[in-house]
Order: sequence, then C-alpha cells, then structure tokens
Amino acid sequence: MKRDFTCIVCPKGCQIHAEFEGSKIINIEGHTCKRGVAYVTDELTCPKRTLTTTVATNSDIMVPVRTNAAVPKELLFDCMKEINKIVLDKSVKTGDIIIKDILGTGADVIATGDAEL
Ligand code: SF4
Repeated sequence: MKRDFTCIVCPKGCQIHAEFEGSKIINIEGHTCKRGVAYVTDELTCPKRTLTTTVATNSDIMVPVRTNAAVPKELLFDCMKEINKIVLDKSVKTGDIIIKDILGTGADVIATGDAEL
C-alpha cells in the first residue's frame, strides 16, 4: 500500500510518502530526519497524539492543560472523560501535574497556564 503523511512532530510539517506492507515500511520519502520515520511507523502501528484542552477551576477561570507525551489516539476520548471529572483549585500554576500517568499511558496531564492571572 501507499499513503501520504504530514509529519506533525515539528513545525516543518514534512510531506512524507510511504509504501508499506502491514506495518512494515518498504520505502519512505519526503522526511528530513529520522523522527519522520518514527512518526510514520507509529501511525501504522499505534497512532498517538498530544492531548490539549482546558480544565475548570473553582473560580471562573479555565486552565489550559496538555499531556507531556503523546497518548494513543484510541484513548483520547477516555482521557477527555477523566480530565472532565476534575475541578482544579484556583492556586494551580503552570507546570503542575494535574493527572499523573493518565489511564496508564505514561503521560502526565500538566497545566500550561496559571488559574490566576
Ligand atoms: S520529518 Fe523531521 S523535520 Fe520533517 S516534520 Fe517530521 S520531525 Fe520535522
């Protein structure tokens, strides 16, 4: 099979063309570093994404959060359900871990902004 990918690992966004059988890459072109090969390999075996969203606090402010590593795409909805159960205290600060090892993925959910501005 053949498929085109847009690598999302860095802002360069290389257009990668890959030929593969199952999850085995036969030929790959368009990547400018080995992370592109790893990205396509992941896309063929276990696609992953960094989850970015906001969490409510006990004040009127929403706090931006993200996972500190990519999580399997198939778990994104379940991760959102876990995150939506939370109401943070307004004392939360950038870098605080909100959920450790969410759903056993190895990724922590961390605050990327302060609740109090
Ligand atoms: S292949 Fe490398 S340079 Fe190109 S977008 Fe992916 S990480 Fe960036």
